[in-house]
Amino acid sequence: MDEILSCSLQNSQKTVTVIGAGVAGMSAACSLAEAGFRVQLVERRGYLGGRASSYLHSGVNEVIDNCQHVLFGCCTNLIGFYRRIGVAERIHWTSEMTMIEPGGRRSALGPFRLGPFTLPAPLHGAPSFLNAKAFLFADKLALGRAMRAMLKPEAFIDTRESLGDWLRRHKQTEGAINRFWRLVIASALNSEIDSIAVPYAAKVIRELFMNSAQAGSMGMSTVPLSELYAGVTPFLAERGGSVLLNTFVEGASWDEETSQWLICTRTGELISDYVILALPFEATQKLLPHLPAEEGTEKLSRQLERHEHWPICSVHLWFDREITGLEHAVLLDREIHWMYNQSRLQGRDDHYIELVISANRAFAALSREAAIEQALRELAEFFPRVKDAKLEKVALVKEMHATFGVPPGIDSARPAAVSPWPNLFLAGDWVQTGWPSTMESAARSGHLAAEALGLAAEEPLTCLETDLKPQGLMRLIR
Ligand SMILES: Cc1cc2nc3c(=O)[nH]c(=O)nc-3n(C[C@H](O)[C@H](O)[C@H](O)COP(=O)(O)OP(=O)(O)OC[C@H]3O[C@@H](n4cnc5c(N)ncnc54)[C@H](O)[C@@H]3O)c2cc1C
Repeated sequence: MDEILSCSLQNSQKTVTVIGAGVAGMSAACSLAEAGFRVQLVERRGYLGGRASSYLHSGVNEVIDNCQHVLFGCCTNLIGFYRRIGVAERIHWTSEMTMIEPGGRRSALGPFRLGPFTLPAPLHGAPSFLNAKAFLFADKLALGRAMRAMLKPEAFIDTRESLGDWLRRHKQTEGAINRFWRLVIASALNSEIDSIAVPYAAKVIRELFMNSAQAGSMGMSTVPLSELYAGVTPFLAERGGSVLLNTFVEGASWDEETSQWLICTRTGELISDYVILALPFEATQKLLPHLPAEEGTEKLSRQLERHEHWPICSVHLWFDREITGLEHAVLLDREIHWMYNQSRLQGRDDHYIELVISANRAFAALSREAAIEQALRELAEFFPRVKDAKLEKVALVKEMHATFGVPPGIDSARPAAVSPWPNLFLAGDWVQTGWPSTMESAARSGHLAAEALGLAAEEPLTCLETDLKPQGLMRLIR
């Protein structure tokens, strides 16, 4: 803290423009403002949050998230960002995951607890897993074998194997593949198993199921996502910064004489000592021809071309009565994967259920009517009360560019924060963070870009949050 305060005095004149106000841009902007830089955060839309935001949906006249966003205890940079802007207590945490089969049979996964007694990681989840009716004994054996093989991170260094091939090589059963790997892991990574690099799957396994109960606990916002960011504008303003909404950046040029950036927006020009581009990969790519030609631009362009989008759809349903008392559930063997009871999560007095369908291009291609009809039909297989309930209103949100994929070899297409240009840094969930396309990757990239900027400004900063340490027996595994 002392270190940060001392930076604060020395840096009071240095200006930073952060382009893009998603989680990456907001995290970078707030950590730099806290360190004393004068930050302007520039966003093309009229609100903050980027791909993790909420807005007034005119069709249902409700403020909805573009999709339910979950985080986990291991997301230390995202949690650090929430803490910085004072909203960490608005996240509701749970350790239990309920899996439901069509027909309604339930299995609860979560850490073992008997009064004060717990089991050391990675065994903390073993009793509920062994007890889960959703898996046959053969599935459990196969999953146990696979988890053991995924214990050591170095086992996967340099592998170019896909998760699909790895699962087949490790003789995973159909039940294990469909009900665990496809549903839980591939949907967390929002890709199909054959398009996932196995180290990313292993990372999810270790963080969510092995390292500790805390790392695997799941967090959900109790307010619409954009409300979480309401503190960002005052946070920056109190430190001499500002937020410029509805400001589309079209290009930038570097003035050698003044050592400053001139940033062209559709509404005017901005001048800044430093720039952080915190854009999605496709928006970064569009901006490249409008940045100075520098050695290294070509390479960056080739890296950007290798990224690919995956869609996520969500169906928002308002019923006239409660259809389940569960807060959330994983729905097995159907196209809809996750159910979130938004009325419970947000303490609302209506009956608002959100369904999430990830990594499913066929579902994303359905017409609105077909998608809603399928979602309702499937939901009734898990919660029979749906059949008697009246659907009052419904919204379908298709995010075709939700996340980028993490196929084998993708790491060489994820650049570091330092860019080919002077005093310009890259952030965004897609840069090199070691994390898949998530809010944590975005927050991490923002903190990494802030640190790289601090070095260039000769004011070293510590913005990256410490990772949670593995607990129990996991401490012994290297
Ligand atoms: C439907 C859906 C569900 C998801 N679920 C989860 C989840 O459960 N958990 C999780 O961790 N992650 C989830 N994600 C992924 C997560 O939302 C993203 O990884 C993260 O929000 C990316 O943040 P970012 O700041 O890198 O990019 P973005 O959020 O895309 O931010 C970039 C910003 O730049 C702005 N911009 C673009 N071009 C310009 C320009 N020329 N000038 C000015 N501004 C510009 C954009 O408007 C945007 O606000 C989900 C994503 C989607 C879409």
